[in-house]
Amino acid sequence: MTQIIDGKRISLEIKDELKEKVARLKEEGKECCLAVIQVGNDPASSVYVRNKKKACEYIGIRSLSYELPEETTEEELLALIQKLNQDASVHGILVQLPVPKHIVEDHIIKAIDPRKDVDGFHPMNVGALTIGERGFVSCTPAGIIQLLKRSDIDIEGKNCVVIGRSNIVGKPMALLMLRENATVTIAHSRTKNLKELCKTADILIVAIGKPKFITAEYVKEGAVVIDVGIHRNAENKLCGDVDYEDVAPHTAAITPVPGGVGPMTIAMLMHNCVEAMEAVTLS
Ligand code: NAD
Repeated sequence: MTQIIDGKRISLEIKDELKEKVARLKEEGKECCLAVIQVGNDPASSVYVRNKKKACEYIGIRSLSYELPEETTEEELLALIQKLNQDASVHGILVQLPVPKHIVEDHIIKAIDPRKDVDGFHPMNVGALTIGERGFVSCTPAGIIQLLKRSDIDIEGKNCVVIGRSNIVGKPMALLMLRENATVTIAHSRTKNLKELCKTADILIVAIGKPKFITAEYVKEGAVVIDVGIHRNAENKLCGDVDYEDVAPHTAAITPVPGGVGPMTIAMLMHNCVEAMEAVTLS
């Protein structure tokens, strides 16, 4: 029988563990704080920012909110990041992406102190992941590792195909699976014979950004399928990169959309915030 991997339940489990930890730290007089910056008012970004603030509230993390107008200059945004970098009471800094076109995203990512880079996008943190050192890991791939582990799915020695090579999902995902001793292949838009390649996967992780792209033809009988994609169809219903109805009956385990990978991203962001504070207070 197919195991439906319950991201909602697992993310709540992680948030509850963090809530307890944060309460203990508060008793020692230590308060965790995340600064969230949004430039402009892209509706999707506003929803993400609101959900991040809600999660902070649930766990007991103080959140500072900076809602800056669309015309904010790169210099102004960099100045705010510098101020927050220097503020010892702030443990995590998050700039909601994408930023407006007149701001160079790369300059913003590199301006955040790597010790406060709870999104795990700074080159120092990406480098740390690559060479197996401690650092912040991009939240969505980190969440997928938690989904697999907390669903008792073995990773070691398994053939894993990751479809997608973006800096925030595909590449860190492949590195994390490698760290867990899987045999990893990365597929992307120029990959030849994608179907045949996917059929070799014991664990297939799909981050393509194309609704219902992966059908049963791509999946080995009894594989584990993780769907990172999020899309809204014409009826405003959410779906993933995987055609769930077609694929699920052939899998040993699969993540649904919604309720699979999605809730894990914020849970791991909260995890990174608490870790950022612990790193400071321990040092
Ligand atoms: P992206 O557009 O940056 O990358 C997509 C990748 O897919 C590229 O590397 C490309 O090479 C590959 N690709 C595109 N077409 C392909 C094809 N036909 N065959 C094989 N590979 C192909 O996207 P992203 O930021 O990595 O996000 C991927 C999906 O995950 C999107 O749907 C996004 O909304 C979703 N996402 C979800 C979460 C979450 O929290 N659940 C977080 C981030 C992204």
